[in-house]
Amino acid sequence: MSGYSFTVEASDGEARRARASFARGAVELPAFMPVGTHATVKAMTPGELDGLGVRILVANTFHLMLRPGAGVVEALGGLHRFMHWERPILTDSGGFQVFSLGARRSISEEGVEFRSPIDGSKVFLDAERSMAVQRSLGSDVVMAFDDCTAYPMDEARTRESMERTLRWAKRSRAAHAGNPGALFGIVQGGMYASLRERSAKGLREAGFDGYAIGGLAVGEPFDERLRMLDATVPLLPGDRIRYLMGVGTPEDVVEAVRRGVDLFDCVLPTRNARNGYLFVPWGVVKIRNRRHREDERPIDPACACHTCRHYSRAYLHHLDRCGEILGSRLNTVHNLHFYQRLMADVRDAIANRRLDAWRRDFAERRAAAEPTIES
Ligand SMILES: [Zn+2]
Repeated sequence: MSGYSFTVEASDGEARRARASFARGAVELPAFMPVGTHATVKAMTPGELDGLGVRILVANTFHLMLRPGAGVVEALGGLHRFMHWERPILTDSGGFQVFSLGARRSISEEGVEFRSPIDGSKVFLDAERSMAVQRSLGSDVVMAFDDCTAYPMDEARTRESMERTLRWAKRSRAAHAGNPGALFGIVQGGMYASLRERSAKGLREAGFDGYAIGGLAVGEPFDERLRMLDATVPLLPGDRIRYLMGVGTPEDVVEAVRRGVDLFDCVLPTRNARNGYLFVPWGVVKIRNRRHREDERPIDPACACHTCRHYSRAYLHHLDRCGEILGSRLNTVHNLHFYQRLMADVRDAIANRRLDAWRRDFAERRAAAEPTIES
């Protein structure tokens, strides 16, 4: 077993208030990880992330192996030193990005061959290479190499992909030997509960430090996603982290926490910030909207973030209209603060065993304001 520990400190129904300790620091769970695709959470310095309460972030194996190259990062002292982030980093396996290439890839039992989106050269990625790259980066949480299924997908092909993912998970586990980082397996199985069950059981038998649920938030309806969580989460070991990959909206996160998920990542808060979509308790403020042109108020008067304490909607609207970099930065500060606050509230609610009541209030706040959500 690797150098991390996981302790459930309180539970409320299926939801867990927990703590994960890594060599590079502890993470209070449930937690949300901002995405730092190219070894940077876009527009944020690591110091700013730390100030926002971020304790773990995600970096992308696929992007970093293509540019600057895992060897370059390793020679420069590893990813933490390279990007000046001293806390834990989780790296994805590259499987999802390869999946996103669509027709530009070909999958075999051995691995995946694809054309580099950067220079068109042929690149081959398999479980062993993914483990080697994540080791070179110095990742604290390594993800097993997986084959992500598109949506929709028929059962036979989904089964084939899920079984391949299981075999790749076992190869990943063997190739991970001697790496002090934690290794998480990834449950696949598309929208088929029986396949999710088979995947979860297979991974449990192999034994991983944590368990991720992959292949969701790929275009399926909200209810379908919840149905798959209901089918999957109870099959994962209670004494390991459960990580829902690539999810999601505040509502997605809250519903998954209720079902026992501990960890999340998504580009939503950072990407939406750069597009002027700002999260607020009553929905979204679209700062690009002309109605904010002379609005002296902050995005959310009740928000304690740096942006809301010092800047008006009118100023943020102006920065957005002018395409100013500072607009992206200030918007990102607000959205990441919103997600950090959301997770802190969720953790408190679980510790106080009032998650259901908190969720009702949360849903009411979102719903009550619906008529005023701008379009
Ligand atoms: Zn704010």
